[in-house]
Amino acid sequence: MTKLQPARGTRDLIGEDLRRHQQVIDTARRIAGTYCFEEWATPVFEDTRVFARSLGDTSDVVMKEMYTFQDRGGDDLTLRPENTAGVCRALVTNGLTQSLPQKVFYAGPMFRYERPQAGRFRQFHQIGIELIGPAEPLADAEVIACGWDILKELGVAGETVLELNTLGDRASRDAYRVALVAYFSARRDQLSEDSRDRLERNPLRILDSKDEGDKALVAEAPVIADSLTSTAAAFYARVQELLARFGVPFRENPRIVRGLDYYSHTAFEFVTDRLGAQGTVMAGGRYDGLVEEMGGPPTPAVGWAAGIERLSSLVGTPPPAPEPVAVVPVGEAAEAPALDVLQTLRRAGLRAEMAYRGNLKRRLERANRIGARAAVILGEAEVARGVAQVKTLATGEQTEVALAELARHLA
Ligand code: ATP
Ligand code: MG
Repeated sequence: MTKLQPARGTRDLIGEDLRRHQQVIDTARRIAGTYCFEEWATPVFEDTRVFARSLGDTSDVVMKEMYTFQDRGGDDLTLRPENTAGVCRALVTNGLTQSLPQKVFYAGPMFRYERPQAGRFRQFHQIGIELIGPAEPLADAEVIACGWDILKELGVAGETVLELNTLGDRASRDAYRVALVAYFSARRDQLSEDSRDRLERNPLRILDSKDEGDKALVAEAPVIADSLTSTAAAFYARVQELLARFGVPFRENPRIVRGLDYYSHTAFEFVTDRLGAQGTVMAGGRYDGLVEEMGGPPTPAVGWAAGIERLSSLVGTPPPAPEPVAVVPVGEAAEAPALDVLQTLRRAGLRAEMAYRGNLKRRLERANRIGARAAVILGEAEVARGVAQVKTLATGEQTEVALAELARHLA
C-alpha cells in the first residue's frame, strides 16, 4: 500500500502552525466582540441550492470549485466554499429576519476545488463577520473598521492596504454594464476565452480576470464612477468620510468588483504584497439582495471574510509554546501523593505534567525535553513534612515550598 498522505490541498495543523491559526481566531473573536458581533456556527455542508443560488451559476466558485456530492440518501449536498450564504440561510431558517440587526462572527473550514499553491488550499479556513439589517453607510464603515482593528491587533496592518470601491445601486450597475459591454465587445477578439464567455453572462467579472491579456484591456476599461447615480455617489462619499473618522486608511481601486447581482455599493479588499500572487487577505462588501435569495424578505447586509492561512503567515512571532510544570516523585511511596499534587496544580489552572515512569534523573531529563519551567520534586521526606522542592529548570535554583502554597508559588 502506498504511504498515506493528507489529501491534495489540505494540511495538518500541529504545534506552531495551530498556535498561529488559533491566535488569528482568538484575536478576531475578541475584537469582533468589542463591536458586539456574536459568534454563529453553521453546518459545514448545506443543500447545494444554498450556494448555487447565492453564488449564481456564473461565478468561478460555482462553475469549477464546489465540492458537491450526493449522500447515501440521495440528497444533493455541498461542502461550504464560503460562509455568508450559510449565515443568511440560517437567519431565514431560524426566523431571525424580524430581529435585526444581527451581528454575526464566524470561524471555520471552507472547501474549494482549486489548484493548490502557496496560500491556496482546497480546505482552508476563514474568519468573517456579517452585519445584517442596516442599510446605512455607517454599517459598511463599521464592518471595515472592525476588520482593520483585527489586522492591527495581529500586527499586520502595516503590511496591508485597504482598497475600496463601490458597485453603486442597481441603476448605476445597469448603466455600467452597458458601458462595459460596449467597450469589451469592440475588443472581443483580444479577450481570453473565459472572458468572452463572461461578456455574455456577466461582464463585470472580466474586471476580476487574472489573464494577463485581459488585465491590459481592463486597465483602459470604463470605471463605475462615471456611471454612478447621485444616490450611489453620496453613499460612497459617506462611507469614505466615516472611514476617515474611524482612522482607517484606504485607497480607491475601481477594479474591485463582485460579479453577482445581490452585491451593491461598498466592495473592498485588504491586500498585501508580502504573499506573492495570493495577496488578498480580507475581502468583503455589501450584499443587500442575498437574504432574499435565501427565501427571506429584502434585507440589507454587509460583511467580509478573511483567509486564516494567509493571515497566520503574515503574523510575525508566533505565540510561544506554553511552559508546563513537571511533577517528579522520588521513590514509590511518593507516587500517590505526587498524583494529588499534580491534580491540585491542574485544578488551579496550571499546566502540569508527570512522566509515566523513570527515576529522578530520567524524569528531570523528560521535564527539560517538554520545556518545563519548573520541576516539583517530591520524596518521602517531603511528603512527610508537607512540602516539595521546586527547582527552576533554567537556573537549577531550588527552594522548598509548602504544598498548600505550591499553586500560588508557581502561578
Ligand atoms: P482569490 O481571488 O484569491 O481566489 P476569492 O475572491 O476567491 O480569492 P473570497 O471568496 O473573497 O476569495 O474569500 C475571502 C478570503 O479567503 C480571500 O481573500 C483569501 O484570503 C481566502 N481564500 C479564498 N480562497 C482560498 C483558498 N483556496 N485557500 C486559502 N485562502 C483562500
Ligand atoms: Mg478564488
